Amino acid sequence: MPKYYEDPYLKELEVRVVSRRGDYLKFDDTIFYPGGGGQPHDTGYFKGENFLAEIIDVKKDEDGIWHMIRKLNGEPEDKGKIYIDWERRYYLMKSHTGEHILYRSLEKLYPVRFVKVEFNVPESVIFIDGRLSIDDIEKAEEMANSIVSSNIPVTVEVKALEDSGDIRIRRDRIREGEIRVVRIGDFDSSACAGVHVKNTGEIGRIHVKKIKYSRENEIFFVVGDEALKEIEISKNAYRRISHLLNDFSNVYEKIVKMKTELDKLRDDYYKITEGMFRFENYTVNGINVYFTKEEIGDIKGIEKRAYSISEREKCVIIIARRSLKRIEIINSTDIDIRLNEFINEMGLKGGGKKNFLINVQEDIFDSVYAELISRIEKILRESPR
Ligand SMILES: [Zn+2]
Repeated sequence: MPKYYEDPYLKELEVRVVSRRGDYLKFDDTIFYPGGGGQPHDTGYFKGENFLAEIIDVKKDEDGIWHMIRKLNGEPEDKGKIYIDWERRYYLMKSHTGEHILYRSLEKLYPVRFVKVEFNVPESVIFIDGRLSIDDIEKAEEMANSIVSSNIPVTVEVKALEDSGDIRIRRDRIREGEIRVVRIGDFDSSACAGVHVKNTGEIGRIHVKKIKYSRENEIFFVVGDEALKEIEISKNAYRRISHLLNDFSNVYEKIVKMKTELDKLRDDYYKITEGMFRFENYTVNGINVYFTKEEIGDIKGIEKRAYSISEREKCVIIIARRSLKRIEIINSTDIDIRLNEFINEMGLKGGGKKNFLINVQEDIFDSVYAELISRIEKILRESPR
């Protein structure tokens, strides 16, 4: 059993190099976790009397555990000491144990299914099947933190796979016909190849930072001092918001109400723009040119209106909005104003089929706009009636 399993709290170890493969070294034993089950490999140093090297990658294959080194000083010899970046590793141990607790809490409360977990410093993510609300997550977070503060021992035992019984097994965490069963009192047992703390109290605190709905439900969390820091930030933000609203008791309800009103106003604004927006316009060679350079009107509503005009008559419509750093051209299908040519000549970026969008920085906005207008006029004047 490698030393990182035997004693996950070892920060340094005397080693001998037993094999070399380019920049990768194999030692007679190691405290470096090679990664797996979502937990990244350790990083650190290999140091001897006459040399110092960083360990920047660790991987495991059928021949053992390999440490990739980057020389800092001297030539790495066959004897030395390896040192783990302990702060990072200990944080990952806390995150990993915290993840067992948080996931088990979710599973006790809701019919969720584990998909995967990704550990990072400081933020890790649990991916689950099933949609949970903020309320649901908060309940699970509360349960998880009660386990954390109960100082429950975390133990590990190695079992043959056939004895696994009803233990929660994540397929990607099984290695070589044996399973390591990580037990958190009688709260949770799960098969896991990672490294963990020996008491839940070491985690300090689990804090869910945010949840995201993608194909899965992603739950982002931090632990320990990072959790306390996040809680402090949230607390300050809440105080500022309640101060801003001049309401210290119904902050959340008030914001929900504001959001509902805002969505309604946005929708109204869109509809009003779409139905009533007036472009300025003039005629070149019998063709209408519509344009607006104003900051008023819902941009989507203006586009919708422009489309309906362009379907009705032969025209070119220019929607220039400085605050969005863009100029948009919509024209009827019987006009070709070769905008790709124009943006290439001007050294600009843009494109589009139904509508042509040109990205324009504010400092050159007016000159690009003027150039575009004169280009369009020229093309329309030359086009057959
Ligand atoms: Zn684990």
